[in-house]
Amino acid sequence: MKQKETLLNTMGINLSRETFEEFGDDHVGTSLQTPLREDAFEMDDDLKVELIEKHFREIMHIMGLDLTDDSLKGTPHRVAKMYVKEVFSGLNPKNKPAAKLFENKYKYNEMLVEKDITFHSHCEHHFVPIYGKAHVAYISNGNVIGLSKINRIVQYYSKRPQVQERLTMQIGNELKEALGTEDVAVIMDAYHMCVSSRGVNDTNSSTVTAFYSGKFERDEQSRNEFMKYIQLEK
Ligand SMILES: [Zn+2]
Repeated sequence: MKQKETLLNTMGINLSRETFEEFGDDHVGTSLQTPLREDAFEMDDDLKVELIEKHFREIMHIMGLDLTDDSLKGTPHRVAKMYVKEVFSGLNPKNKPAAKLFENKYKYNEMLVEKDITFHSHCEHHFVPIYGKAHVAYISNGNVIGLSKINRIVQYYSKRPQVQERLTMQIGNELKEALGTEDVAVIMDAYHMCVSSRGVNDTNSSTVTAFYSGKFERDEQSRNEFMKYIQLEK
């Protein structure tokens, strides 16, 4: 949580929302890498859909739901397809967006910011949505990346079971690699359905996580400049 404290100190004022929720005991972050098995992709997507469908039908059956009901009978297939092909499609490296760099000498040493990137992810502890906004900044080394590409990198890592800290770091590290620069910052401000719709039922709190690398880590002025950009609309 050190990063968040740093962030709050940096921001000092004008917090976008009143409360910042700390993760509870059931939200212990793990490693930077998503914990995947070696054989994670030996099965193809169609077989995964088929197996998940079968098991989800079983879950619904155990809960006592009548799967012959017209409204329910398609649900196991819909859920399975949604898991494999949509909301968890970012687990599979074959879906990773390729990043193309463009040379732009005029942007050398300039801070580029993309703010308010909407993302939808899932908490890996409860499998319910985490959703919010991501803000990204980098200082160009003469190369720039298409804005839609930044968006796609955010979406790719969001489409996994996640913890917000890891998601933030994965996006930051990917941008460093794609841009060939250390000077990258990512801030994510998100709502966790596992906090708002169950447990403590707190509907107002959001969680902020930050990743700072290179100049953003070393230099308070760079962080402040980034903050200034992303607070414009508040
Ligand atoms: Zn959760």
